Amino acid sequence: MTTTTHILGYPRIGEKRELKFALEKYWRGEIDQNQLKAVGSDLREKNWNVQKEAGLSFATAGDFAWYDHVLTTSLLLGHVPKRNRNGFPDLDTLFRVGRGQSQKSCDCAGSAASDMTKWFNTNYHYIVPEFSEDDTFEVSWPQLFEEVNQAIKAGHKVKPVLLGPVSYLYLGKEVQDGFDRLTLLPRLLSAYQSILAKLSKLGVEWVQIDEPVLALELDSQWADSFKLAYQVLQSDVKLLLTTYFDSVDDTISRIIELPVNGLHIDISAAPQQLETVASQLPSDWVLSVGAVNGRNVWRADLAALHAKLEPYKAKLGDKLWIASSCSLLHSPVDLELEEKLSGEVRSWFAFAKQKVAEVALLAKALDGDQAAIQACEDYSAPLVVRRSADHVNKPTVQARLNTIDKALAERSAPYPERAAHQAEVLGLPLLPTTTIGSFPQTDEIRVQRSAYRQGKLSDADYEQALKNHISDAVRRQEALDLDVLVHGEAERNDMVEYFAENLAGFQTTQFGWVQSYGSRCVKPAVVVADIEREKAITVEWSTYAQSLTSKQMKGMLTGPVTILCWTFPREDITRKEIAQQLAFALRDEVSDLQDAGINIIQIDEPAIREGLPLKKRDHSEYLEWAVDTFKISAASAKPETQIHTHMCYSEFNEIIESVAALDADVITIETSRSNMELLKAFEDFNYPNEIGPGVYDIHSPNIPSEQWIEDLLRKAAEKIPAQRLWANPDCGLKTRNWEETEKSLANLVSAAKNVRAEWAEQAE
Ligand code: GLN
Ligand code: ZN
Repeated sequence: MTTTTHILGYPRIGEKRELKFALEKYWRGEIDQNQLKAVGSDLREKNWNVQKEAGLSFATAGDFAWYDHVLTTSLLLGHVPKRNRNGFPDLDTLFRVGRGQSQKSCDCAGSAASDMTKWFNTNYHYIVPEFSEDDTFEVSWPQLFEEVNQAIKAGHKVKPVLLGPVSYLYLGKEVQDGFDRLTLLPRLLSAYQSILAKLSKLGVEWVQIDEPVLALELDSQWADSFKLAYQVLQSDVKLLLTTYFDSVDDTISRIIELPVNGLHIDISAAPQQLETVASQLPSDWVLSVGAVNGRNVWRADLAALHAKLEPYKAKLGDKLWIASSCSLLHSPVDLELEEKLSGEVRSWFAFAKQKVAEVALLAKALDGDQAAIQACEDYSAPLVVRRSADHVNKPTVQARLNTIDKALAERSAPYPERAAHQAEVLGLPLLPTTTIGSFPQTDEIRVQRSAYRQGKLSDADYEQALKNHISDAVRRQEALDLDVLVHGEAERNDMVEYFAENLAGFQTTQFGWVQSYGSRCVKPAVVVADIEREKAITVEWSTYAQSLTSKQMKGMLTGPVTILCWTFPREDITRKEIAQQLAFALRDEVSDLQDAGINIIQIDEPAIREGLPLKKRDHSEYLEWAVDTFKISAASAKPETQIHTHMCYSEFNEIIESVAALDADVITIETSRSNMELLKAFEDFNYPNEIGPGVYDIHSPNIPSEQWIEDLLRKAAEKIPAQRLWANPDCGLKTRNWEETEKSLANLVSAAKNVRAEWAEQAE
């Protein structure tokens, strides 16, 4: 028998983002539900055909989602927040939970969307299930069964995928105090029983049941719950328990006790687990090896994988299955669409469609097919050549990395000394006011950028247009009387893409979209070679902006960890090495900015927290190099140059020490939504440098009143000494319009002035 092959899921968004455009048309009322459903149905059929044509043993169904697969699971289970219900759940119910419903659109009270949060350590976001004590679960939403039927009718051998009950509970949150959502498990299981029974009736043999939380460090209560869950879930269908994104080292002893029929592991994220798992697995289980990385754009090294897996094939025979490491949801759809890649770069990449073919080819090679074995060798050849290519592994970049030592990461003076210098040079008042960097990205800017990209606007004209936006932003900030100005980031479409486009070592794509949430997609750049800054990137814009004002102009950079986290990394060097290369590039930019007369430089690190590895025991190692790379970027600043950083999320508690270790002179953070609650972490820890707690939420169109801002500033001053406080919004303003922005900032400035006067009086 030939080796069984499958993938854990295929991108649902479509090669040209068909689902995105259809969804947005539906939401705007331009197409009806039937038209939308037809788009979904076509996409699924296409995706199954890709799998069939490549020769995979199964077509995976149930991976399609109108918004998010966790939300689909909630609907399947009839588990919808009360506020979003309106009769029997249908597609609009689903959208209400995902997106909320405005009062205007329903002519009713409206209802809030559920929270959204990151899917493990990916850049995909899921809708968080909300649990309360009286929740019930009942199979309600027929999408899964309809899709399985659709696939069967189209002649596919179907393997449905289902998010497992324990992970479903784990990934949600209690919306009621004093209750533990795990107590809902028995009730939830009876719904899962009916789902499996229905799938069995449809003729399904295997179900892929995703329990990704098995790759976390679970406490014993959660880890033990699997036993109960899977004892109850006995049925006629066979269960393949799937894990991904990290190893099952912490849970394998429990996993092998479960009455299931196989286990899937991710050997791309955690290669070392292959041996430990293979040696412990019950002999009648299938081991599905996730060999082809589902969350990056790199071609798999099939020759190496073949060599690695051959002994396991010999040992396990037909019990060895070959698969993608995780769902291909996290990789772009089809490399074939890329028209602008060089032949060389193309020979390094594989998107979802190509990854399906990789799974099939690897399995064939493992079955002993000589042509396939040769094809694996040929397929790996470009990767082998790449390893010793000087334009990939650049001797100059390598030499620089070798100079890293502790001293390189340190500023030349400690914070108190720097603060004294800065006070002299910068001439800022108590409680200085500033913004986070970007100003409204108006239609005009967008039109100009797209004209420029299409070659319809010359370099000179585009430059002039940007300079006009900069001088407009400076003029408005002067009128508002802000203390530290910014140039407004009109030249940037995105804070990471901009640097990726201006640094050597990155490749951008035309259609490399991956779903971020709902209909939103991102198109991350790819790190393909050692990173170098060939010329200054932001200096011209910042110095132009500075030339227009006598106030301090803040330079604006994206930090090394954030650039790393929001791009596709290389697989042949570590994330740490990539971040170090970025750090050197930014370090040079910092030097050039200060040499050009910029006295304040902000290095944004909004992603530092999301880069945390899944297992807590790996956190400290990550945080150590993440902090060091930031510091390497900043340490070329002279004592009198003020380094700012910015982070925009709420949970600082677990990383507060690392945030302090960045040793930025000023940090601006998000705090407004929690009413300054968050400052508690900074207070408890006794944060040593300056802080600008965001005093209003830029995500909302509401204009914060002067009073509201004053109250927050006073509250902040209860926790942080006034000398170390700044006043600023909680993030960049690119998504707001100018009217909202100016009104809000006017209130911010006058609130700061009022509070400043009050404090000055108290000091007298
Ligand atoms: N400087 C960036 C901006 O203002 C920061 C964005 C962010 O924190 N995500 O847009
Ligand atoms: Zn932010």
